[in-house]
Amino acid sequence: ESYERIGQVESQVKAFLTLDEERARVKAKELDDKLARGEQSGMLFGLPIGVKDNIVTKNLRTTCASKILENFDPIYDATVAEKLKQAETVTIGKLNMDEFAMGSSNENSAFQATRNPWNTDYVPGGSSGGSAASVAAGEVLFSLGSDTGGSIRQPAAYCGVVGLKPTYGRVSRYGLVAFASSLDQIGPITRTVEDNAYLLEAISGVDPMDSTSANVQVPSFVNALTGDVKGLKIAVPKEYLGEGVSEAARNSVLSALKVLEGLGAEWEEVSLPHSKYALAAYYLLSSSEASANLQRFDGVRYGYRADNAENLIEMYKQTRGEGFGDEVKRRIMLGTFSLSSGYYDAYYKKAQKVRTLIKQDFENVFAKYDVIIGPTTPTPAFKIGENTADPLTMYANDILTIPVNLAGVPGISVPCGFSNGLPLGLQIIGKHFDESTIYRTAHAFE
Ligand code: GLN
Repeated sequence: ESYERIGQVESQVKAFLTLDEERARVKAKELDDKLARGEQSGMLFGLPIGVKDNIVTKNLRTTCASKILENFDPIYDATVAEKLKQAETVTIGKLNMDEFAMGSSNENSAFQATRNPWNTDYVPGGSSGGSAASVAAGEVLFSLGSDTGGSIRQPAAYCGVVGLKPTYGRVSRYGLVAFASSLDQIGPITRTVEDNAYLLEAISGVDPMDSTSANVQVPSFVNALTGDVKGLKIAVPKEYLGEGVSEAARNSVLSALKVLEGLGAEWEEVSLPHSKYALAAYYLLSSSEASANLQRFDGVRYGYRADNAENLIEMYKQTRGEGFGDEVKRRIMLGTFSLSSGYYDAYYKKAQKVRTLIKQDFENVFAKYDVIIGPTTPTPAFKIGENTADPLTMYANDILTIPVNLAGVPGISVPCGFSNGLPLGLQIIGKHFDESTIYRTAHAFE
C-alpha cells in the first residue's frame, strides 16, 4: 500500500532518496507468513516506516543527502534500525534531508528539494523534511528524523504532523551520522500522538554502543495517554509569544491554551530570560562540533574521492571541496574559526557559558511547572527559494526550537490550526525524561 501511494504522489513530494521496494516486499511476505502462523511478536508488526538518510542502515545506501556519501553502503545497522527490526516494521526507504542535517528547508540536499504536501510551492521544513513530508503525504505511517536544533519539530509543524525530540540520552545515537554530538537526538514523526508514543517506546533505551545514552527506565508512553490534564501546570514563556512571532502563531497557541484550560489545566506567563542568546550560542557550538565530526570525510575512509589530485593534501582538499555543499562548508569554517586558539575563549567558551544559563532558565521554570508551551516556529512554512539568499533569516526559523536542544530536555510539535492553508505547530516542552507528561498533554489537546 505504501508503494501504491508513493507511486501516486512521490513525483510531486520528492521525499525519498532511496526506495527499498524489493527487500520491503520480501520482508512483508515474511511477516505475512508469520501472521498466518500466529507468530507476530514485534510491537509495530508490519507497519511501514521511512528512515532519515543520516541513520545508517545495513546494505541500504545512506547518503546524508551529500555528494560525499553518494555511494555509501553501510556495513552495519544503527541501534534504532536494529530496534525497528525487533519491532517488526517494514522499512520502505531512506528520506531526504538537508545535507548533514544542516538547514531548515531541505533546500540544502545535494540531490533534490522535498516539497510541502499541503502546497508544493512551499518548503516542508528541515532538516528532517523528507521524514515529515512522507508521513504527511501518507507515503509511510511512521518515520524517524533527527533533531539537533529543531530538525524534527520544525518540519513536523510545517507539514502538520506530530514530531518529538526525546530527552538527550533517551535514544541511542549509535549509527546516527554525527552533526553536533552534544545536541543530536533521533526521534519519531507520526500522524497521531498515540503512534508517536508507540514508536518512541520501540526505539528508546540505554545502549552500550553509545556512552551518552542514559540508563533510565523506558515507561510505556502509551499508558500516559489518559486524557486527564486536570491540575496540570503550564508555563508560557513571554519570549515565545513576543517580537518576531506571527499573529497567527500567537493566536493558535492562545486557542490551544483555552482548550487545555477547559480540560482543567492552568497556565501562567513566565520568562526564559536567556532565550535571546540561544540562536548565537547554538550556531557556534553546533558548528564547532560539526567541524570536528566532519573531519572523517577525507576521501580515504568513506565515500567520494576526487580522482585527479597530485598528492594526499590535494586529494583531501579536492574531495572536500567537491563533496560538501555550501552550507556545510560555511559551518565547518565557522566552527574551525571558533575553536582556533585566540578565538576559543571569546566564542566557543562563551557560548558554553550561555548554554549553562539557558539550562538554568529551564530548571527554574520546571521547579514550578509541569510543561512549557509555545509555538514551534514563528511562522508557517515559507516558499521554496524565499530564504536561500540569506542564511541568517534561515537560521532565525529555529529560534523557538533551539533552546530545548541546548537544555537537553524533550519537546514535541503537534498540529495546531492553519494559516493561509498551511499548518501551524504547538510546541510542548517537558522535564528531562518526562516525555510521558508531554504525550499526555499533547493527546488531551489533539
Ligand atoms: N536548522 C538547524 C540547523 O540548520 C537545525 C538542524 C537540526 O536540527 N539538525 O542547524
